[in-house]
Amino acid sequence: MIIDTHCHLDSSRYDKDIDKVLEGAVTKGVEKFIIPGADPRDLDRAIELSERDDIYFAVGVHPYHIDDWSREIFDKVSHKKCIAIGECGLDYFRLPEDETEKEQNIAEQKDVFRKQIRLAKELKKPLIVHIRDASEDAKKILLEEGADEVGGVLHCYNADRTLLELADHNFYFGIGGVVTFKNARRLVEVLPLIPKDKLLVETDAPYLTPHPHRGERNEPLFTTFVVEKMAKILNLSYDDVSKITTENSLKLFKL
Ligand SMILES: [Zn+2]
Repeated sequence: MIIDTHCHLDSSRYDKDIDKVLEGAVTKGVEKFIIPGADPRDLDRAIELSERDDIYFAVGVHPYHIDDWSREIFDKVSHKKCIAIGECGLDYFRLPEDETEKEQNIAEQKDVFRKQIRLAKELKKPLIVHIRDASEDAKKILLEEGADEVGGVLHCYNADRTLLELADHNFYFGIGGVVTFKNARRLVEVLPLIPKDKLLVETDAPYLTPHPHRGERNEPLFTTFVVEKMAKILNLSYDDVSKITTENSLKLFKL
């Protein structure tokens, strides 16, 4: 069994064929799905989808959506299929050009990130953390806020060595389609350094589609390409990687 720990199935890009997408995944052994919170406007759709036994969701405000922050969104956390807080985190990849606006945006991102870590601790849920071009700041905030108390997954494109330290603080690493890219040198180098009991598999569907489907819409079925590539890099079998990452997901998210 494979668990796709990060797929945006609440995206309108699946409106027409969600049943087919899920069926295709299940046929290939991808049997559980976690929908992270990103845009609060999609939350109702995520909750609706979680009526299926194999779908879970998280509630969170992505750094791109900090303007939509409200405490009320988190009322949905009491739902029995809500298993985490996030995506939350820092993204310095897309910042305003104006210096003052940029500083203000970074300050707001940090504030909304800290608030979500505190909520996760209060509600005793693990975190789904989005980090892009902001490894140092994100690590600092996670450690300062004592986020290890709940732990979570780092959903990271730029697998930074800086972040490896967080493996000792109850954080897991979500490995996605980037590992299959021809230019994924950094992630390929870092992957063997991540403790095996801290590895998870994810697609970030509909984004970041793995090779050989780059350019197409991503879907949970494509975790199979990620597992295949991880197995090759780690010198393990496909079944070993599926088993290890599934056990890790079950443990972290208490599925
Ligand atoms: Zn995502």
